[in-house]
Amino acid sequence: SKPINNLHFLLIPYLAPGHTIPIIHMAKLLAHQPQVTVTVVTTPVNALRYRPILDKPGPSVQFLELPFPATEATGLPEGCESLDTLPTPDLALNFAAAVDMLQSELERCFETLSPPPSCIVSDKYLAWTADTADKYRLPRIVFDGMSCFKQLCDHNLYASKVLDGLRDSEMFVVPGLPDRIELTRSQLPVEFNPSSRTTGERLERAREAASRSFGIVINSFEELEQEYVNEYKKLKGGKVWCIGPLSLYTDIDQDNDKAQRGKIGSISEQECMKWLDLRERGSVVYACLGSVSRVNPKQLIELGLGLEASGHPFVWVIRAEEVERWILESGFEERVKDRGLLIRGWAPQVSILSHPSIGGFLTHCGWNSILEGVCSGMPMITWPQFAEQFLNEKLVVQVLGTGVAVGAQSVVHWGEEEKFGVKVKSEDVKMAILKVMDSGIEGIERRKKAKELGKIANRAIDEGGSSHMNLKLMIQQIRDIMNLNVFGG
Ligand code: UDP
Repeated sequence: SKPINNLHFLLIPYLAPGHTIPIIHMAKLLAHQPQVTVTVVTTPVNALRYRPILDKPGPSVQFLELPFPATEATGLPEGCESLDTLPTPDLALNFAAAVDMLQSELERCFETLSPPPSCIVSDKYLAWTADTADKYRLPRIVFDGMSCFKQLCDHNLYASKVLDGLRDSEMFVVPGLPDRIELTRSQLPVEFNPSSRTTGERLERAREAASRSFGIVINSFEELEQEYVNEYKKLKGGKVWCIGPLSLYTDIDQDNDKAQRGKIGSISEQECMKWLDLRERGSVVYACLGSVSRVNPKQLIELGLGLEASGHPFVWVIRAEEVERWILESGFEERVKDRGLLIRGWAPQVSILSHPSIGGFLTHCGWNSILEGVCSGMPMITWPQFAEQFLNEKLVVQVLGTGVAVGAQSVVHWGEEEKFGVKVKSEDVKMAILKVMDSGIEGIERRKKAKELGKIANRAIDEGGSSHMNLKLMIQQIRDIMNLNVFGG
């Protein structure tokens, strides 16, 4: 009989923009491949929000919309189906539990999926998808929206005893890495923090689920972190496919903006571009701390003052209400009106970063933001907040040499903002900005490196580029095991 060539990928993202957007891009990318069908599993509110990306011309991707569990079962407000729309951060665990409930919804309609799925690609946090995959005898691929650098740090820290008995502020070196990466425990993601048990258990489950999976897709490209990719492949026995930067696969400039209909910013993309058109080439700093981090208002004020003191024109994305009051009452907006553009709410980040007037990116070091900065050839000012962002900072500042740190010392835990005084000062922000925007030798070198990386990123996804080849390889390996299962038993 004939070998199986038609594949149906079921993609299951975690319900947060930083997790869903790259998976949708991956869906579009897969759908471009011959004999491949793709379904993205999500919920009605998210389907509405992200539909504009899928509706772009090109091969079709369908959404499977599972009803989000009811308020009585979750303790979440009606319609709150994405992590970034939680009214308070302490609901994050309720939210994670609600997402777990989607398992039974998915399995209820599994048999009706047509053609029958051949592979599940799931966000690493959705451990239950490994059980679903086992139940239906399908390979599961873990989607990790992070770098191999992060994977390797994670693995080595977990496998070693380097953290045993370490105080929060004590420096240590991450063992077994190609570079000497020094951190303190308080800069590590919560799973390495003994006081955060609940999250720890969740991650433990994710880790166990990953160990049962067929392989892992990484939203990165090999040239960015070649030594780390090699090491990580050795560790995983080869089934590691770097297929990014995924944001480059569609004309996301428009998609990204339109996909946020539920979250409209205070100014339109056109207005924003018009404002940037009037500035000098490479003169503007773009500052944005991501979609979910809740930054202490006192720290946001230092950020605003630092931007002001740098003397550079800037675009600043703000979301916190407390800082809004300060902006109005302190006269900040009035003082900077000639050179500061404030965006309240959602900014068209990718379009902004691609504008020639932008010369530096002040980022919280979320992985998508880092990649978007890399793709547009940006030197970066790094201000990590939580999760793996301090690791990402090390990669950018130390390994890639394209960033300058503002000097943040520790993760800010959600719900602990009150305890948190002013740590990073406006002076630190100003100095880091001046360094990155500087036209001396160091600044020029940094910019050159960043530009070069941007070019390499864009080549990786071209026909014959490393990410393109890895995608083909992944698809082939799935076809191979399908045929083995059918013909070889
Ligand atoms: N983003 C955006 N506009 C905003 C804030 C965020 O377009 O005002 C996008 C950003 O381009 C990125 C994603 O949201 O693609 C955020 O992901 P990231 O991993 O950087 O950080 P997270 O928000 O998950 O902490």
